[in-house]
Amino acid sequence: MNIKHVTVAGSGVLGSQIAFQTAFKGFEVTIYDINDEVLETAKTRVGGLAQLYQEEIAKQQGSFKEALSNMEYNRNLLPNVKDDIFTQIHSAGEGALQAVGRISYSSDLAVATKNADLVIEAIPEVITIKESFYKNLGKVAPEHTIFATNSSTLLPSAFAAATGRPSQFLALHFANNIWKNNTAEIMAQSQTDPKIFEEVVDFAKAIGMIAIELKKEQAGYILNSLLVPFLTAGQMLELDGISDPQTIDKTWMLATKAPMGPFAILDIVGIKTVYNIVLNYAKTTGEDKYQKLADLMMNDYINKGKLGVATGEGFYTY
Ligand code: NAD
Repeated sequence: MNIKHVTVAGSGVLGSQIAFQTAFKGFEVTIYDINDEVLETAKTRVGGLAQLYQEEIAKQQGSFKEALSNMEYNRNLLPNVKDDIFTQIHSAGEGALQAVGRISYSSDLAVATKNADLVIEAIPEVITIKESFYKNLGKVAPEHTIFATNSSTLLPSAFAAATGRPSQFLALHFANNIWKNNTAEIMAQSQTDPKIFEEVVDFAKAIGMIAIELKKEQAGYILNSLLVPFLTAGQMLELDGISDPQTIDKTWMLATKAPMGPFAILDIVGIKTVYNIVLNYAKTTGEDKYQKLADLMMNDYINKGKLGVATGEGFYTY
């Protein structure tokens, strides 16, 4: 694989996670965002992720300890296994700190991409913003650089021309909480070079993802083709005055044994991204209900700084 240095554009909910996971797996990473103030917030997010990874690794260590003590009677049959596992976990913990050192930051797109073999774009789910970003990116990034969009619901073919290098452009879509929900959906558009597709599949595996290769272009891939209608249905129940978020979540969880209901998931996704998706639906379908839903999210949540888990409050408080 030729990918060694990765630039992540956009350091919000998903961009920071993609950047950290990539650095954690040993790649050099540069985070690009619109200005230095946002990049300062990104540094705090990255610090938080390093801590979280260490906590997750410590938890794993705890469960391994328990599992291994249950296996104690069999210890003569497992000579070095225990030590090997502990050495691996210990170095993973240190790896979380080392990952922080592998990440650099720049708000200058040319500087941020000068060494990039792959740029992963995780900027707002707004067609015009993505289009103008790709036009600029295509001008400054090295010729060999591959571009991948993490867009949740937009088709890569909508931006292929703007990149100026459609054969090196495709979608690489991650799920939120990437370190445990480790799917990476890889989706080409009609002009993507199959070799580039394979290279991105290899990259996804190299950063610890289960690579899911889509056979055709589909807005929302597999995950969001299922998830977005589910989340929207939950929100419509509230908008139509049928019930409230807590009761809707509770019903879903009790009846299906799912760990979360739609509103808890919306808080994890982040209300701004959900707003952008709903607004895109309002524009493409012309349906009034989506515009009403977008207005509700803007007035009752975004304008009040309630952006979900990331800001400590959304439909729930954290
Ligand atoms: P976010 O709002 O949390 O972050 C967006 C980031 O992009 C911000 O840091 C912002 O400053 C930056 N930005 C804005 N304009 C920019 C520009 N022109 N150039 C560079 N950076 C710019 O959004 P998010 O939730 O991380 O979503 C980003 C993308 O990832 C979207 O396409 C979204 O659909 C997709 N995605 C989100 C999730 C999720 O659960 N939140 C999951 C998978 C995919």
